[in-house]
Amino acid sequence: MLQRSERATTTIASAGFLWLIPQNAPTLKNATPNQQGRFNDAYSEFLRRLSAHGGNNPCAKLFGGLDNALKTLGKTNFAARSVSGGVAETKGSTIRIDPTKAFMDTSGSVSITTGYAYEGGQFTSLTIMLGNVEAAAFILAHEFAHRSNVKGFDQNDANITTLGGTQMDFAGARNNEMIRAACFSERTPQ
Ligand SMILES: [Zn+2]
Repeated sequence: MLQRSERATTTIASAGFLWLIPQNAPTLKNATPNQQGRFNDAYSEFLRRLSAHGGNNPCAKLFGGLDNALKTLGKTNFAARSVSGGVAETKGSTIRIDPTKAFMDTSGSVSITTGYAYEGGQFTSLTIMLGNVEAAAFILAHEFAHRSNVKGFDQNDANITTLGGTQMDFAGARNNEMIRAACFSERTPQ
């Protein structure tokens, strides 16, 4: 009897969990199995952050609430495809991920620029270091903010400014800072 009731409890709990969180990542079109694997891990990591505290968190809020975020995610297509001048891009309802760049990196960590500081007569970038799956989740969140038309998120963030030989993307960094503050606030830019 005890065994049976334990089982029933488990079933109910996991049914509620599965109802809240879609269990499978969507297909990443044109991806190899390894690339799909990374995408699945990144998607899960993003969902974990979106659904923290039952959706009562700044990340879900950024995307108009958990329900809206899940609805829009369900209407988004994902494809592995070369992206020029970036690691990923969003065109209409499709998020394109360059399979040769940071999203698929296997070196262990990826640096993401979240701003610039003007020090000693030059700009230096403020960055956060993320593990490979977290970095992929960050990139996914960034593109999903384009996809979701998040208020204050600059849709035109591929404007590179070159100063003293240094290339800077101020709009992209501002966008990344919005994602960091809402979804990756445990990381402090350095
Ligand atoms: Zn962008």
